Amino acid sequence: MAEILVLGGGVCGLGTALMLAHDGHEVTVLERDPQPPPASAGEAWQAWERRGVAQFHQPHFVQARGRHVLDTELPDVRDALLAAGAVWVDQLGDLPSTVEDRAARPDDDRFRTITGRRPVVEYAFARAAQDEPRVDVRRGVTVTDLVTGTSTLSGVPHVAGGRTAAGDVVRADLVVDAMGRRSVVPRLLEAAGARPCYEEAEDCGFMYFTRYFQRRAGGPRPATPFVSAVGSFSILTLPSDRDTWSLTVFASSHDRPLTRLRHTDRWTAVVAACPRYADALDGEPLTDVLPMSGVIDRYRRLAVDGTPVATGIALVADAWACTNPSVGRGITLGLMHAARLREVVRTELGKPAVFADAWDAATESDLTPWYRFTVQGDRARLAQIDALREGREVEVPADPRSTLVRSMFVAMRYDADVYCAVTEVGSCQALPQEVFDRPGMVDRIMAVARGRKAPPAAPGPTRAELLALLS
Ligand SMILES: Cc1cc2nc3c(=O)[nH]c(=O)nc-3n(C[C@H](O)[C@H](O)[C@H](O)COP(=O)(O)OP(=O)(O)OC[C@H]3O[C@@H](n4cnc5c(N)ncnc54)[C@H](O)[C@@H]3O)c2cc1C
Repeated sequence: MAEILVLGGGVCGLGTALMLAHDGHEVTVLERDPQPPPASAGEAWQAWERRGVAQFHQPHFVQARGRHVLDTELPDVRDALLAAGAVWVDQLGDLPSTVEDRAARPDDDRFRTITGRRPVVEYAFARAAQDEPRVDVRRGVTVTDLVTGTSTLSGVPHVAGGRTAAGDVVRADLVVDAMGRRSVVPRLLEAAGARPCYEEAEDCGFMYFTRYFQRRAGGPRPATPFVSAVGSFSILTLPSDRDTWSLTVFASSHDRPLTRLRHTDRWTAVVAACPRYADALDGEPLTDVLPMSGVIDRYRRLAVDGTPVATGIALVADAWACTNPSVGRGITLGLMHAARLREVVRTELGKPAVFADAWDAATESDLTPWYRFTVQGDRARLAQIDALREGREVEVPADPRSTLVRSMFVAMRYDADVYCAVTEVGSCQALPQEVFDRPGMVDRIMAVARGRKAPPAAPGPTRAELLALLS
């Protein structure tokens, strides 16, 4: 069995470490933040200082596919999550009243997930890691350099470990970069003599304003839809552990007047003006409005012109690619990525050049399509928002693919199978193309949508009313 070094002890770094340890490897995790997980999930929310994760108190949701990965790869974490008060959520719960066939299906369970506030989710991973004898999590340790060993490919450095700020060297058969969206590994690789890795990066273009609430004793739980586009902004509620929920308004970061959503009174006025979401204000506020912007869409690849820039290292989860978080896929995709890494480690570890190619191929085939799909969706929504706030007509692309996607959103309001297919995409179980490739699916979507109109816009303030509420 191998020695593996994981850089970064966030959710996906710990998930990766646990999966590899369950296969018998000895795993060391180096995490910059010093505080260990607190004694309880409640303290994790209130007192766990995690400066290394800027989004620690931002809304988080684990998609059903993430729960499937926990079921098969990390049942210990799933059980720790449930023990920490995480909540079961049925992602088919928003089935529109216009769908007539409401009968349960034998495989409906695959749409149920387990989720909680981010500190609570991370607490579950951290406790499971603490209990795993083959995982050694060293906190308060910053990685400052990569250490190289004997190259197996001419001119390509081989990473053989990491050096910490204190000057200690940890050697390993494989180094996994799980340092998140701000990982400095590309710079460390260049300092170790590697060519620059391939990188695409842009501001995802959204800003987020979130407040958390908890159900009052005897009070109602909000029965709001998950997410709706209300003209030039969107609104999102996420059910969470212990009868808590997050309520987020997000908009284009170029929309200056909407930066006033950071003021609690204006934020509340805007939410109250959205009839389907006003109920979610009826709880005990746990926070003020938590603003966040400057979130980057970034994709990195170590294979450049068909050759790895380095061997002995694998990028995983956000350190590989991260996107606009409003679709809530980061942790789920990161766990899928970690599970894939486990498979490649099983067959290719010990053959650095083969491993590098296999890891690149696995990432490109299984994960990159999700990155591209998410970025594409963001751009479409931002174009729509920009048109609405500038008072322009929203452009409706007429190409066959766009027509099919629009028809799917119409058909899902009437046909349970199409609704399930859309939810499969939302919960990371299938890419749109996989759904469209199913025999008969395209014909069905087009037949159900024929003659029917696009769903009406979610009720809420007009642009003029919105600006008045914020002024
Ligand atoms: C506003 C917002 C909302 C989000 N909502 C969701 C959601 O609803 N659902 C979802 O699935 N995802 C969501 N995400 C994405 C999710 O937070 C990430 O996908 C997830 O945190 C990735 O986990 P990770 O372990 O890869 O990285 P991180 O959680 O970022 O962890 C990286 C770790 O590396 C450590 N580190 C960094 N540099 C060093 C160093 N030099 N030495 C040692 N350690 C280091 C950091 O301290 C940190 O602990 C959201 C993101 C944002 C920004």
